[in-house]
Amino acid sequence: MPFSKNALKVLESRYLRRNLKGELAETPDELFMRVAKAVAEAELAWGTHSEAEKWQAIFYESMKNLLFLPNSPTLMNAGTSLNQLSACFVLPIEDNLDSIFTTLKNAAMIQQSGGGTGFNFSQLRPKNDLISVTGGEASGPVSFMKVFNCATEHVKHGGKRRGANMGILKVDHPDIEEFVVSKTDEKALNNFNISVGITDKFMQAVEKDETWELIHPNSKSIIKTIKAKDLWRLIIENAWSSGDPGLVFLDTINAGNPLLPLGKIECTNPCGEVPLLPYESCNLGSINLSKFVEQEGRKNIINFTKLGSTIEMAIRFLDNVIEVNHYLLPQTKTIVTANRKIGLGIMGWADLLIMLELPYDSNEAISLAHQVMKFFKEKSLEASVQLAKERGVFKNWEKSIFYPNIKLRHATRLSIAPTGTISIIADTSSSIEPLFAVAYRRSHVLDGNILSEINPLFIDYLKKNKLYSEGLMDEVKETGYLQHIKQIPAATKNVFKTALEISPDWHLKHQVVFQRYVDNAVSKTINLAETASVSDISEIYLNAWKQKTKGITIFRYNSKNKQVLEKGISS
Ligand code: ADP
Repeated sequence: MPFSKNALKVLESRYLRRNLKGELAETPDELFMRVAKAVAEAELAWGTHSEAEKWQAIFYESMKNLLFLPNSPTLMNAGTSLNQLSACFVLPIEDNLDSIFTTLKNAAMIQQSGGGTGFNFSQLRPKNDLISVTGGEASGPVSFMKVFNCATEHVKHGGKRRGANMGILKVDHPDIEEFVVSKTDEKALNNFNISVGITDKFMQAVEKDETWELIHPNSKSIIKTIKAKDLWRLIIENAWSSGDPGLVFLDTINAGNPLLPLGKIECTNPCGEVPLLPYESCNLGSINLSKFVEQEGRKNIINFTKLGSTIEMAIRFLDNVIEVNHYLLPQTKTIVTANRKIGLGIMGWADLLIMLELPYDSNEAISLAHQVMKFFKEKSLEASVQLAKERGVFKNWEKSIFYPNIKLRHATRLSIAPTGTISIIADTSSSIEPLFAVAYRRSHVLDGNILSEINPLFIDYLKKNKLYSEGLMDEVKETGYLQHIKQIPAATKNVFKTALEISPDWHLKHQVVFQRYVDNAVSKTINLAETASVSDISEIYLNAWKQKTKGITIFRYNSKNKQVLEKGISS
């Protein structure tokens, strides 16, 4: 089995089944067999036993060889009594206690099963507003978010992993200023990512330096008028100091909404890669691009034939997941089986670039992204069309932008997820992110366990180019990056540039080009050096909107005490 030490640690701590005594009751091989069998069972609705067995073997091989992995809940739960297989959920919050606490309960159950939840709190009346039933005053969206945060804190102790939430508030909600500063105290909403729901109208008001009205969500009356630029400044100052809030661009999302007759999309899952309607969920899977590199003569190239058939297999796998999934909520079952949204993405992008010896911050890398993602878009569409022929179109197809020309089985097909854990299992770089460091410690991923690592591709590269020495490794371990090390040639330094050495513009260019081909969204963190200024962030956020990303998240190095990744491993 090709597993790294870190992969085994991750698998053992959360993914492999245990018996009642808490002892491991499954090997990684058996895990993949369990998942392949559970997912291939869907085939029986259309095909014979032997066809189901054929697909079971194909799914198993592709996971075992780390070509493709589904999102964590599928790995954890497939074929178990829980069988909840989706990573991403959005739940509604209406302006009454019944809705708020029903959703709180539903969120707790979803989180217990390893899923992440997104909520848009904008329908809630603002703080200090009148409550007609009691004559008292409303506590407002931010105070309810704290209730959700607290519930997550407690659920995580008994659940599969620490929960993740997305909280969104629209930019014209009267409590928007309180929301924007709500993560100043790091502990207050520690289980939430927060994003401001931005409209084009607001961005235009910022550009033209106009006033901006905050509007009561129920009465629609104007509660307060502020300067758009003042609110913008508050947003970016907070992003500078804590990484939050990010932005979600609601008009861009709805311009690409394939099912507008069902309503506007106002929310995303926790990491932002899937915009969803209330009660919708989405299951994700990612293809490990580093496994598609082959040597041709003296050059490395991508094997597109193998990639094409893996995309086709992955779309079928994710379609099957919709069939065999156990839905915790009846509303979710109804909408998911009607829209059939899936999110196939990638991991190992940085590793692929290294194997092809292309710097992340190069035009060649961007052109390759166009080529690879165009291929993903075409192949995933073909696979969905083919499945529609075999199994039928999705129920709401006639309400979708694809009607009547393209008979599809899935309202959406692609999504770039962070692959935070599955990339560790696959032992490759996460998602479309550059290397964070050439040597690093990864803490807090597994509740305090520390995993350390020198990038194996770097070691291979040094050995191949006769640059390897123990002394050099010690130097690299000190800081986690290479730029200051004299004996390393410039070309090597360019190929192994790390996230903070790559300018924010290049980070954004990657997000933009991937978004262009992805019908859901792209989860990406624009990493910034500690010295980045508030106006740097303003520029990035503004450019992200102009270039039609669906959302944007930045992180300035050291702006939070508890970072997931720290550079260098020797300290
Ligand atoms: P993985 O690598 O574990 O499959 P990703 O890092 O790709 O997961 O995240 C995909 C989605 O899974 C996130 O956007 C979120 O919806 C959900 N998710 C991620 N981490 C958690 C978590 N700790 N708890 C609940 N949901 C999570």
